Amino acid sequence: MHRCPGTDPRFLKVEVHKCQCGYEVEIFSDEVKAKCPKCKKDVFRENTPSCIDWCKFSRECLGEKRWHEIKKAMDSGQQDRKKQG
Ligand SMILES: [Zn+2]
Repeated sequence: MHRCPGTDPRFLKVEVHKCQCGYEVEIFSDEVKAKCPKCKKDVFRENTPSCIDWCKFSRECLGEKRWHEIKKAMDSGQQDRKKQG
């Protein structure tokens, strides 16, 4: 099975993003969002493209189902931000 650097665990990073409630939520570099354990809201990574953005193998890598889930999450996250800003 093909693996790209974007989903290789060796390259996986954890980033800390502050939720709007102030809680610091850890998001892995292969995830576009994580749920805040405190207020249960989705926290999105920003300014950090997921491998889905730049890797042409992301669809094969993640699998069709997961690829669509992430893509959907990213799109709705972007729409949310547009509405706010
Ligand atoms: Zn929160």
